[in-house]
Amino acid sequence: MEPETRTVGFRAGERNLFFHLLTACNLKCRHCYINPEQHGTAMAGREEINDWLSLFFDPAKETNVVFLGGEPTMHPELAFAVKRARAIGYASVTIDSNGYLFNDILDRISPAEAVLSFSLDGPDAAVNDPIRGEGSFAACTANLKEAVKRGFAVSLICTVSRMNIGHLERMVPLLEELGVFRFFIQVIGLRGRSAKDPSPLQVAPEEWFAKVVPVAEDAARAGIRVNYPKVYLDPGEEFRCAGLVADNFFVFPNRRVYRCPLCEDFPVHSLEIRDGRLCERDGLTEDRFFRLNIPEGCVMNRLLQPGNIEYLPDGRPAHRVSCCLLKQEVCAKSRGQGTGDGRQP
Ligand code: SF4
Ligand code: SF4
Repeated sequence: MEPETRTVGFRAGERNLFFHLLTACNLKCRHCYINPEQHGTAMAGREEINDWLSLFFDPAKETNVVFLGGEPTMHPELAFAVKRARAIGYASVTIDSNGYLFNDILDRISPAEAVLSFSLDGPDAAVNDPIRGEGSFAACTANLKEAVKRGFAVSLICTVSRMNIGHLERMVPLLEELGVFRFFIQVIGLRGRSAKDPSPLQVAPEEWFAKVVPVAEDAARAGIRVNYPKVYLDPGEEFRCAGLVADNFFVFPNRRVYRCPLCEDFPVHSLEIRDGRLCERDGLTEDRFFRLNIPEGCVMNRLLQPGNIEYLPDGRPAHRVSCCLLKQEVCAKSRGQGTGDGRQP
């Protein structure tokens, strides 16, 4: 069957909570977007987990939660968090892990309670480990196999950069061998550690499309659902900023709540949790930017990554950059459940 590609639009009846339980991690990936200067080094406590899950739940909407870190399985209360989310009524629960699966998490939750999303940035240790850390390929693939064996639905996130794009096609046989049902191909962003890397890690848009689209189609032919960022809108396609039209909340243990992930390196979060309530902040916050209507599309991309935009001789942008949360989905046949946005854990 030929793969079909469609844009996954923002859905009005959906609400997504991206809950960073902690910022600590056992790895030091080259492209890590976690920024302890902005997000602190604290962990959300058991009481905060309980209260914040209730705070962000909307019974009138399909509410999903993704638990992230740092490495969320390093949090001793992750199993509690998963079970509370289920008890409150979250429609789906996903754990984005680097694959080390600390605290015996597979023994403490059941496949019915959460989808597991693993991060791997190459088809073998020679490609993956220089990016994610010595031994991380072996640890991640061994634990992923164990999760599949126990019946968990397992997805995989690969963050594509100059360091691994030449090896992306070799990911497909590995995904099949591992039994992964969904593959998120993520584009490296200039955030956190990658913004400070002396060698450019970003991939040119032409190379991204030339390599990523055929790999996504190959994976789809193998029965795996694939998501990758839209990046550029098609001519005539409407631009929509998720900060205005979607219900996404990126929550950090220092109580900051962002509506846009591109803003996370700056103290411009539009919301914060104060005395158990979600409060709007005054001053120059991210939501002031969302309303700016520019021909380039996404305002934050224009401000933070202007090198991504090409201009025509008459000064008009060659493309409109889509919201970073807008995804393409490539699918040949359905194979299981799942959620998450493919953030890099
Ligand atoms: S990435 Fe751009 S379009 Fe998307 S929420 Fe942020 S500012 Fe809005
Ligand atoms: S990208 Fe994820 S696994 Fe890697 S250092 Fe950052 S938090 Fe840890």
